[in-house]
Amino acid sequence: MLHLDVMDGHFVPNLTIGPPVVESIRKTTRAHLDVHLMIENPDRYVGAFARAGANSISVHYEACRHLDAVLGLIRAEGAQAGVVLNPATPVGMLQDILEVADYVLLMSVNPGFGGQTLIPYVLEKARQLDRMRREKRLALPIEIDGGVHRDNLADVVRAGCDWIVTGSAVFHSPNPEATVREMREIAAHAAAVEC
Ligand code: ZN
Repeated sequence: MLHLDVMDGHFVPNLTIGPPVVESIRKTTRAHLDVHLMIENPDRYVGAFARAGANSISVHYEACRHLDAVLGLIRAEGAQAGVVLNPATPVGMLQDILEVADYVLLMSVNPGFGGQTLIPYVLEKARQLDRMRREKRLALPIEIDGGVHRDNLADVVRAGCDWIVTGSAVFHSPNPEATVREMREIAAHAAAVEC
């Protein structure tokens, strides 16, 4: 899947892309488009991103006053609805909403910029969330975003993460295609060892 980081210059200091760019990307690929909204008032924009071709849309717990309603909006638009937690937000905050979400995205850096280092305590959050979903018998995927590279990938997968977002590790490598292939192999091996 392609993970698209949308930043509004308010929720995070950086500014990136909006629905027209997502629409243009949609025309070039059949890949799953996973849109991560790092924006204030995401409820105003989820419809536009869904119509632009997003398959899944995630919104920050910290940006939603009415999280349950926003997840419902995303689903009503026909996309999968995800919740994102900043590093400092405990996974326990999702105890009641977990059954309403299609996936959870754990930020492993403070959102806003690429090229940062993974914050180690986020792996413990992934393990906690993995226990929570098992207790509730939910199959929802755990996604992780920020600072993942080939050397920490196995730890990330063993902590329970299923969808691994990588930016710099791929795009700053000499051969991005080979790096993706190699990282997929590392992840598959780590997942097999876990089971
Ligand atoms: Zn992201």
